[in-house]
Amino acid sequence: MPGEADYYETLGVQKDATPDEIKAAYRKLAKKYHPDVSTESKEVAEAKFKEVSEAYEVLSDADKRKLYDQYGHAGVEGQFGEGGFSWADFTRADDVSDIFGDIFGSMFGGSRRQPRSAARTGDSLRYDMDIDLNDVLNGKEVEISVPHTVTCRDCNGTGGKDGNVTTCGECGGLGRVQMVQRTPFGNMISESDCPTCRGRGKTFAEKCPKCRGAGRHSTTTKIEIKIPKGIADGSRIRVPGGGDAGYNGGGPGDLFVLVNIRGHKDFRRDGNNLWTEVQTTYPRLVLGGTAKVKTLEGETFEVEIPAGTQVGGVLRVPERGLPKANASVRGYLYIRVMLEVPKKVSAFEKELLEKLDDAAGKKPAGTRKSKVRQKLEGL
Ligand SMILES: [Zn+2]
Ligand SMILES: [Zn+2]
Repeated sequence: MPGEADYYETLGVQKDATPDEIKAAYRKLAKKYHPDVSTESKEVAEAKFKEVSEAYEVLSDADKRKLYDQYGHAGVEGQFGEGGFSWADFTRADDVSDIFGDIFGSMFGGSRRQPRSAARTGDSLRYDMDIDLNDVLNGKEVEISVPHTVTCRDCNGTGGKDGNVTTCGECGGLGRVQMVQRTPFGNMISESDCPTCRGRGKTFAEKCPKCRGAGRHSTTTKIEIKIPKGIADGSRIRVPGGGDAGYNGGGPGDLFVLVNIRGHKDFRRDGNNLWTEVQTTYPRLVLGGTAKVKTLEGETFEVEIPAGTQVGGVLRVPERGLPKANASVRGYLYIRVMLEVPKKVSAFEKELLEKLDDAAGKKPAGTRKSKVRQKLEGL
């Protein structure tokens, strides 16, 4: 992308270049890349010329340069139109007009854009939908209400009462008019929407009462969305034609439903696998045993804890995870085995634990020293 190149590199100047150095560098490059004199092909020369002019537009302006130095391209992109820098954004024509004089003009007319009156597809819309992990398990059909614009049926999208329209006399039905401006660069041709028909190419004597002449109106449409089993987080479900109404007979845009899966307090998703935790006791970790585990669907089953399982050890159970898309198989349920440490113990439990501790021969520093010593002395 030409717009992403470093402006200083584009002009071949240092970061601390003075305004005079920047101007000199631009003038040199402008001479090199002007399409009428460049040895490059017209397309390449025009692109290069535009690129150096964009860099110059920013670096020749103290404020824009400061923003660029601080934030890079993000700092200055707001200065230009939606598609990035265009010749309409260029304010420094005076700085090179003495070189080129009037021969410049032709290229600033820009490529002729499609007339606005041509059929255009409507805008696509995005709808954010939150679902639960259980919906991933079972799939879901959900009806959503989508606010969007639709083509007015009363006037068939023309905006004229009962669809009665005539071709605009001002623009001859093109929807756009050209204006020629004299500038230091020469004649600049700019196009804009036809003021008479507002770009539509058609005019009408009487407005359609339903859409007040717009040819489209806002409404809310209920749309059924099918969430497939095993859907990935962040998936986009496309609903063709669910977006905004088209223009001049163009079809509607699409609706994209962005699926966000809510977090679950007991389960974490990892692809088609699920992760959960189970609490157990120290004796069961050591000796082995079973533990009760709840599945995502709420069923309880017993899982075998093998003898010698470490705290944080992971057990893997097949077919208890999430369904794989378009398949009847399910992923794994991974169960992390945690140690439940009681905050309070009975006298009996305390005695057993102390005996166990003695037997293991590991005494926590300082805590039960005196008692241990007593015992040792008693032996
Ligand atoms: Zn017109
Ligand atoms: Zn209408």
